[in-house]
Amino acid sequence: MALNKADALMDVAIRRSFLIPSSEIYGSPSGFFDYGPVGAAIKRKIENLWRSEFLHKEGFHEIETSLIVPEAVLKASGHAENFADPLVTCSQCKNKFRADHLIEQSENAKKEHVKAAGLPPAQLGELIQKYAVLCPQCKKPTLSDVGWFNMMFRTNIGPIEGNTAYFRPETAQGIFLDFARIVRNYQSKLPIGIGQVGRSARNEISPRQGLIRMREFTQMELEYFFNPKDQSHPKFGKIKHEKLRFASEEGQPQYIEIEKAVHTGLVANEIMAYFLWKVERLYLSCGIPKEKFHFRKMPKEETPHYSKGNIDLEVETSYGLVETVGVAYRTDFDLSSHSKHSGADLSVFVEGEKAKVVPHVVEPSMGVDRLFWCVLEHAFRGKTPEKDWEWFDFPPAIAPYHAWIFPLMKKDGMDEKARQIEENLREEGLTVYYQDSGSIGRRYARADEIGVPYCITVDYDTLDEKSDKHGTVTVRFRNDGKQIRVKIGELSSKIAHFVKEGKVRDD
Ligand code: AMP
Repeated sequence: MALNKADALMDVAIRRSFLIPSSEIYGSPSGFFDYGPVGAAIKRKIENLWRSEFLHKEGFHEIETSLIVPEAVLKASGHAENFADPLVTCSQCKNKFRADHLIEQSENAKKEHVKAAGLPPAQLGELIQKYAVLCPQCKKPTLSDVGWFNMMFRTNIGPIEGNTAYFRPETAQGIFLDFARIVRNYQSKLPIGIGQVGRSARNEISPRQGLIRMREFTQMELEYFFNPKDQSHPKFGKIKHEKLRFASEEGQPQYIEIEKAVHTGLVANEIMAYFLWKVERLYLSCGIPKEKFHFRKMPKEETPHYSKGNIDLEVETSYGLVETVGVAYRTDFDLSSHSKHSGADLSVFVEGEKAKVVPHVVEPSMGVDRLFWCVLEHAFRGKTPEKDWEWFDFPPAIAPYHAWIFPLMKKDGMDEKARQIEENLREEGLTVYYQDSGSIGRRYARADEIGVPYCITVDYDTLDEKSDKHGTVTVRFRNDGKQIRVKIGELSSKIAHFVKEGKVRDD
C-alpha cells in the first residue's frame, strides 16, 4: 500500500538520520522521538535562531529551569486541577481514548463538521450518544461515560512517599518562579523579557501524527513582563505598517496591517502585535512560505478566563492545519497566583508611579518539534528530470551542515587538502563534513538528500601551482547543481554571506 504524504516523509526522516523512534529496539512507545545526527543539527540551529531573534536581539535573559516541579507550583498555576483531556473507556475492550478526537473523527459527526474540542465531559457524552460513536477497536457502541485525565507525568521527590512532583507540562512556570530573583539581582525595571528553551512532557491520551502530538517535546517560551498601564512597544513604530496574515470567517486568510489589527482590537496591544511579527519573521527564516501559515484569534469561549487575548499560528501541513505557536496575553494571572500561594512578593517597584506593580505578561510560546516538522514538509522536494533523488531545500541557516567537503579522488594529496580545509572551516565556526566514499555524483546526491546547501570539491587544479585555478575549489550549489570556483580563503565569508541573506546563492 502506498504511504500517505506524512508517513512517506516520516519514512524518509527515519532513513536519513533526522529522527529515530525512541527506544526503537524495545518497540518504541508512541509519542516519543529521538533526533538523529541530521535532525539534532537542524533542531539546534532552529533553537539558536529563536535565541537570536527572541532573546539576543531584544536584550532579554535566557534561563534554564528544572524539569521536575513540586506539586505546590502546579496547584498554583492551575495545572494540577485543570490540565486534563477528556477520556472515554470502552466497557468491552477496556481501551481508553481521547473523547473529543473520537467524536470529531467519527463518520456521522464528520458529515456535520462537529467541533468537540474544549467541551466538558457531559456534553461529549451526549455527542457520543447522538452520533452513535463506536469504539475504534470493537466497532460497537460500547463507550462508557467521559471523564477527565490529567496529562501530567507524576513522580515522587526522594524516597518518602507523598512528596509529589510532576515533569513540567510547560517551561513557562519556571520563568515565573525565578522572576523575582532575576529582577532583584539585575535591579531591573519593566519591561523585562525572560525566556527558555527546554523539554516539557504531557501524557497525551493518544499521541498521533508523529512530531505533532508527542508525550515529550521541546518548547521555546518567552515571558515579556510589563507595566499594565503602558501597553506600548518601543519598536512598534518600525513594524506598524507591515501586514500579517490572519484567518478570517469568510474563507481565505487576509493580510491586515499591524496598526489596524491593534486599533480594531483584533490584537490586544502593541506588545502582542510586535511578537506576532517576530513569530512571522522566524517562520520565514525557517523557510515556511508566507502563504502557508496564518494567525488565528482564539474565540472567546476557548480563551482562558484570565487572558486578554490568545492568538495562535496555524501552518498548513499534510495533517491539515496545525497550531504551532500560541501568543497569549496572560495578564498578571501567574505572578499573582504564585504570590498568593507562596507568600512571595512578585511585584516590581515602578519609579514613575512610586508604587509596586504586579507586571502583566505577554507570552509567545512555541514548540520546536512542530516547527521542525513543518520545516521538513515545506522543504521536501521530489524527483525532477534534473535530480533523480528526493532532497530538502533548507535555508542555509538551518541546514544540518553548512557544507560537505570532498577530494575529487582519494589520492595525490587531494584528500589531505580537503581534510585541511575541513578543519579550517570548522575552526571558523562552520558545520562541515568530510566525505570520500562513492562517486562525486553519488556524494552530491547524498548531500542533497539531507539538504546540505554547498558541496566543496578539491581537485587537481586546487593543488597545481601552474594552473590559474590553483588555491581554489569548486562550490556546487544544492538547488540548481551549478558550480563556481572560490578561493579557499574566501569560503567561509562566502557561506556566511548566504546564511545571512537566507538564500542558497546570489540571484
Ligand atoms: P500550549 O501550551 O498547549 O499552547 O503549547 C505551546 C506549544 O507547544 C504549541 O503551540 C506546540 O507548538 C507545542 N506543543 C504543545 N503540545 C505538544 C505536543 N503534545 N507535542 C508537540 N508539541 C506540543
